Amino acid sequence: MDYCLTTSNLTKRYRKCYALNGLTMHVPCGAIYGLIGKNGAGKTTLIRMICGLQHPTNGSYAIYGANHTDKEIYKARKRMGAVVETPSVYSFMTAEENLKQQYILLGKPSYGNIEALLDLVGLSNTGNKKVKNFSLGMRQRLGIALALAGDPDFIVLDEPVNGLDPQGIVEIRELIIKLNKERNITFMISSHILGELSKLATYYGFVDRGRIIKEISAAELEKACRRCLVIHVDSSERLAPALDSANVEYKLITDTEAEIYSEITITRLNKVLSDNGITLVKISEKDEDLESYYINLLGGKDNA
Ligand code: ATP
Repeated sequence: MDYCLTTSNLTKRYRKCYALNGLTMHVPCGAIYGLIGKNGAGKTTLIRMICGLQHPTNGSYAIYGANHTDKEIYKARKRMGAVVETPSVYSFMTAEENLKQQYILLGKPSYGNIEALLDLVGLSNTGNKKVKNFSLGMRQRLGIALALAGDPDFIVLDEPVNGLDPQGIVEIRELIIKLNKERNITFMISSHILGELSKLATYYGFVDRGRIIKEISAAELEKACRRCLVIHVDSSERLAPALDSANVEYKLITDTEAEIYSEITITRLNKVLSDNGITLVKISEKDEDLESYYINLLGGKDNA
């Protein structure tokens, strides 16, 4: 798999406080990577670091294979766009003027596609309206347009839906999905709201106290959260062959414990087991949603 971003044991220390504490992660090219963590977990520090705004105390990171200490990193970073914390926009200018300013900063020779860019982010009809009169959602979309000005392959957004109303959230979500699908732009999006990210992320990195505690694809996460029956039996050797013989979809948790994903009645399941000389000791239902998966990862409600 190709990665836009990898980090290895990334550490940032401020006196006694570790903002990042050995963080290792992998952002696959083409993904919408949701970086999930509660306030203070280290998300902004990580993002500022990969944007070159802060230096690691220890560890390393690579963007498109270029290590942060190599001179190639400058070239690699040009393939990246970012909106860190609140978008840096000139509030006394219009959206178009802000984009022109960005083009000048990037040394782009013509303003040719500014109109198309404004159209892409849904700001084409803002005319002479100054940014100071924009809604928060419009500002966010302008921030994304500014990040897009350099034609990036990889965009990093720090809490892009923070403070937005439901309509604004939907607009940002749809824009990200569109850019990912139509332009094949990889996204890394930080948030503490798992429910929101779950509507668009294809990969997740769960960050806690400065380190990644789990990386998982959306498909794997969905599977992990699938509704299932959990059975405990008395026999350790016969369980798998018995379930196989009845074409039951399952996952062995231990020798005597399995999760059953097939639609099967308890009566039939019990019969399959007893026909194979296995006694069902305990059965329960598991129906975990993303939020409880996350809370369990963090070690329960008290730590979440
Ligand atoms: P939030 O969602 O609240 O923005 P976050 O996950 O982005 O949180 P960071 O802002 O990266 O977290 O902060 C991680 C930890 O590092 C926090 O405990 C924070 O107080 C600490 N920290 C960040 N910047 C500094 C700094 N300049 N000096 C001292 N401590 C800092």
